[in-house]
Amino acid sequence: MKYFPFFFDLRGRRVLVVGGGEIALRKVRLLARAGARLAVVAPRILPETAAAAEESGGEVLRREYAAADVCGCAAAVSATDNDGLNRRVCADARAAGVPVNVVDNPALCDFIFPAVVDRGAVVAAVSSGGASPVLARRLRAKIEEMLPPFLGRLGDFCAKFRGRVQGALPAERRRLFWEKIIDGAAAEAALSGDNAGAEALLEEELRRFSADKNGRGEVYLIGAGPGAADLLTFRAHRFLQKADVVVYDRLVSAEVLELSRRDAERIFVGKRRGSHAASQEEINRLLVSRARDGLRVARLKGGDPFIFGRGGEEMLALRAAGVSFHIAPGITAACGVAAAAGIPLTHRGVAGAARFCAARRGDMEDAEYWRRLAEDGDCTLLFYMSGESLGRIAENLAAAGRAPETAAAVVCAGTLAGQKVITGDLSNIAARAESFIVSPALLIVGDAAALHAPEYSWREEEERVCAVA
Ligand code: SAH
Repeated sequence: MKYFPFFFDLRGRRVLVVGGGEIALRKVRLLARAGARLAVVAPRILPETAAAAEESGGEVLRREYAAADVCGCAAAVSATDNDGLNRRVCADARAAGVPVNVVDNPALCDFIFPAVVDRGAVVAAVSSGGASPVLARRLRAKIEEMLPPFLGRLGDFCAKFRGRVQGALPAERRRLFWEKIIDGAAAEAALSGDNAGAEALLEEELRRFSADKNGRGEVYLIGAGPGAADLLTFRAHRFLQKADVVVYDRLVSAEVLELSRRDAERIFVGKRRGSHAASQEEINRLLVSRARDGLRVARLKGGDPFIFGRGGEEMLALRAAGVSFHIAPGITAACGVAAAAGIPLTHRGVAGAARFCAARRGDMEDAEYWRRLAEDGDCTLLFYMSGESLGRIAENLAAAGRAPETAAAVVCAGTLAGQKVITGDLSNIAARAESFIVSPALLIVGDAAALHAPEYSWREEEERVCAVA
């Protein structure tokens, strides 16, 4: 950040503008909107500029600029095409301790003019730090489109009730209250100019909030997908943005976690090497107690909450406790990594079904379990949590009758930057993967796995979001 975006109170304060042409006019009009008294000095001044300065309660000085003009001003702007004069104004202002802007000359500026979106009480300002005013203006145009034209009315409406809400609700409940107001019917009414309607709705919500001592906490069971942040659903993103608390597992990637609110409390409940992982009962209790505190709790899990994610157990615990909850499904690892590796899960003539499996320790010796998995040669098998048991899974499948030449693939850290795909068949996949495997890994068994093409690339050229300094 090269310049700090202060919003400066210029009401009634004198601001000097040197120059009488078009550019000076633009600055005068902009500053007049913030209530500044404009003193314009130049031998020739456009009539509109003079009129705007007079209207602002300032002065029109039709003469050459003099060093004393900057004295006592809140800010000075030099908008002339005379480089020598611009430099003098800059030097005089700096000597007098007055912040100065020389139009189109960043080196001579103490402050710069942002591109402004003015909605009354609500103002958005975009700056590129002088690097590219055109870029800043393009972004302003986008913001213009996003902000309703009468947003200022909503700002004024909120300002009017701010003190009252502060008195009526404790700090931790106010944010939720204002979010409800701003997202709800009261805001619609205020934006459309119906102040009486907006006030009635706000009062009603305030009564409800004051009466509801236990708050209206709720839990969002959210699937975070296999890792890449752009695989999150809009629904998941919306819930994450609302949540005051985020309870997350080891498989939730850093890039997804980054999308939660910055001020949200983050609680890690996964297993880390050498440390205790919270038990399911502890997690259930945590979700219930935070929601009962009136907080909105995001329960963020890798993949989909309902596929090997114990989301069902959490849902039942919340239901039993009478806590309201919502669910946002996620892209389960099998689907995510299959896409990331270019492997279809079903494919005409090759695979007519797909099955999500987790061969747990207890299943390893269970011949019936393997017979059931192996009997349908048309089914792609997706083994979650299989990183450490690839060899035994492959052996068991072959022993139960699945052909040893059935194609297989292991995808590690699928969709993430360190993704690896190892391919082979049932007879050799474990040996091939042995020295490459990293966690998390998913094993795909079935001839569709042979459709993986090594040159296929999942990650695009990194797209850079334009950062505005
Ligand atoms: N609820 C999750 C699964 C949790 S079980 C889901 O729907 O995806 C954890 C297993 O998921 C891991 O052992 C691994 O097999 C698989 N997994 C999760 N993320 C993965 C990734 N990015 N790459 C490969 N496998 C992954």
